[in-house]
Amino acid sequence: MSRKTTIKAAIATGASVVVSVSICLLLVPLLGGQPDGPGFWMSVFCPLVIAGPASAWQFHQSEVIGNQRDEIARMHVELEDMHAELRHIHEDLRARARRDPLTGGLNRGALFAELAEIAPSHEGPAALLVADADHFKRINDSFGHLVGDEALRRIADAIAASLDEKDMWGRIGGEEFLMFLPATTRTRAVAIADGIRHAVVTADFLAGGEPVPLSVSIGVASLRDRFEPADIFRQADEHLYRAKSGWRNRVVFDGQELERFQQEWEPVLRPQLHENKGIEH
Ligand code: GH3
Ligand code: MG
Ligand code: MG
Repeated sequence: MSRKTTIKAAIATGASVVVSVSICLLLVPLLGGQPDGPGFWMSVFCPLVIAGPASAWQFHQSEVIGNQRDEIARMHVELEDMHAELRHIHEDLRARARRDPLTGGLNRGALFAELAEIAPSHEGPAALLVADADHFKRINDSFGHLVGDEALRRIADAIAASLDEKDMWGRIGGEEFLMFLPATTRTRAVAIADGIRHAVVTADFLAGGEPVPLSVSIGVASLRDRFEPADIFRQADEHLYRAKSGWRNRVVFDGQELERFQQEWEPVLRPQLHENKGIEH
């Protein structure tokens, strides 16, 4: 029992004795008796043995309940903190599950899930780009997989630096990347694709002082309004295949190679290439 409880019990017991003695001194004469002798001492003794232990027990129980209430409140706060932490960990895990750990871009699952969500209600022009590192097996074979990994990060950096906040990009396979550019005309899409191609091929990537030949080929498919992700992906992939079957290190869009497009669209394309951040052309 705490000191506080003991003091409270002592006060209650003292008060009981005072009340009991007062009643004895007032009532007994009224009833024609004398408030003295054993009768008087009974009025002192009874509250001492009854109110003393009873009030001590009562105050002790209140103290125990009070402590338990405090403990429950403290545990409640702890639980709320743990809930907040769990929520945070859950959000972090969800975000990580969407990311490709090597490049920091979205992973294949997240990209295709986003496309499936956007596609049915999409409005306006947009473009889907598929980029594939050229002769990447040779880079791994000549310089090792760690250099290959670093090369993939360089390509990812070039992609990320060329896109805006609203654009979406990620790695869909070993050395393959996908970009979805909303509100994007074919001109902007091709400008961005060629900017990425240019940034990669001029990246000055060295391994042990030796230059690593790095380049990407990119297939571009443009679209308008609602679309079928699989169809657009297939188109971009076909264009990529065409870029690969040519010289590589090139951009193919809607069945044309960039050189022809550049001749026709040079005046339009050139200022846009300059506008794209991180791309010198
Ligand atoms: P192409 O120009 O036709 O695309 O030739 P390629 O050599 O790039 O294509 P291929 O499909 O023959 O080889 C792809 C290589 O990419 C093989 C694989 O070892 C490598 N690769 C895939 N994922 C990774 C990765 O995460 N890290 C590294 N270092 N290499 C990877
Ligand atoms: Mg490939
Ligand atoms: Mg490749």
